[in-house]
Amino acid sequence: MQYNLKKMEEADLNKQTVLVRVDFNVAISNKKIMNTKRIDSTIPTINYLESKNCRIILVSHLGRPRGVDMNLSLQPVRDYLSEKLNKEVYFIKNIESINETVNRMNYGDVAIMENIRFYNEETKNSEKFSKMLASSASVFVSDAFGTLHRAHSSTVGVSQYLPSYAGLLVEKEVCEISKLLDNPSHPYTVALGGAKVSDKIKLIQNLSKNTDRFVIGGAMANSFIRAMGFETGKSLVDSVGLAKQLLDSMDNKLILPVDVIVCNESMDRETIRNAKIDDIKINETAMDIGNETTAMFRDLIKESRTVIFNGPMGYVENESFENGTKAVMDAIGSVNGVRVAGGGDTLSAIEKFHMENRFSYISTGGGAFLELLEGSELPGLKVLLK
Ligand code: ADP
Ligand code: MG
Repeated sequence: MQYNLKKMEEADLNKQTVLVRVDFNVAISNKKIMNTKRIDSTIPTINYLESKNCRIILVSHLGRPRGVDMNLSLQPVRDYLSEKLNKEVYFIKNIESINETVNRMNYGDVAIMENIRFYNEETKNSEKFSKMLASSASVFVSDAFGTLHRAHSSTVGVSQYLPSYAGLLVEKEVCEISKLLDNPSHPYTVALGGAKVSDKIKLIQNLSKNTDRFVIGGAMANSFIRAMGFETGKSLVDSVGLAKQLLDSMDNKLILPVDVIVCNESMDRETIRNAKIDDIKINETAMDIGNETTAMFRDLIKESRTVIFNGPMGYVENESFENGTKAVMDAIGSVNGVRVAGGGDTLSAIEKFHMENRFSYISTGGGAFLELLEGSELPGLKVLLK
């Protein structure tokens, strides 16, 4: 799929007032930002607009507030940005004061608006609200890759009223993800894990057009194990019907576990054992891929030239069940080719194990990353196409 983006480098942005939608939806605990990657990834776009002497108004959401909720304020992000950019970043408390702030700004100055989802008009993509947002600026730049799958006022609505361009992060993400869809090198392996088959079915269907195989682990694999007629005990199982359907339609591309790490419900260490998939007891829970499966997945990954990784292979929140995920990521690190990861919990796992260097590209998107790979039309991307 070719995405012909309206790139901001192609526009005359000199001394414009630019509304920039970014995705600063980061985890914040006690006013401390737990991971700054999403913010850091937009710095090139901010720097570019600074170099064009623009007045920059950053807009983002944070979490899912219902109305104003100061626990989800973007103030900590403003403070971090000030530090990072080494200058004052204006804070716009509400939409009514945008113009007043813009009038105080010099060219090259940066402002950030309070959490845009404090207004419920945002997610409704309200026309009036979009117009109001747009009225403060002369140009719209969208750099919120992680939110492009949402048709909201600040991702889609404003583009009706302003010339709109893709920022550098969106450009990079689309370019890297397109490589996975257009003429990829083979062998091409998708390592899929995580919670549910139903979350990943469209992805499997679309990617199966040009991938060679899916190595499937995580809780997701349990649905397949059940669909093959085996006992899965107390394991997390999602849609067995969907798993059956996939087994019937493309089983030669689906590589499933032959063994799993199981334990009893209380997760007592003494109950942890490696079990063949036809030997899971009714009181046991499958928590990770087994040793033989791990070795098999590792070999298939290593000989690949393109690998996508989405979804942990086990319950990585507990260290007893992180081995499969770590081994898969290690194998990806030795692949001579394209090695891309994406997904919310996937990123957390990569960061937890400090395995960022195993990948040639790590997407900042969760849902947007998956939807782009699914071949879905992302509303926030559509408005940035020529
Ligand atoms: P992503 O957000 O990267 O797309 P998912 O949301 O699909 O990933 O899945 C991540 C979650 O799946 C993790 O929290 C992990 O603990 C869980 N998980 C993986 N394997 C298992 C398992 N065998 N049993 C229970 N949970 C699992
Ligand atoms: Mg998730």
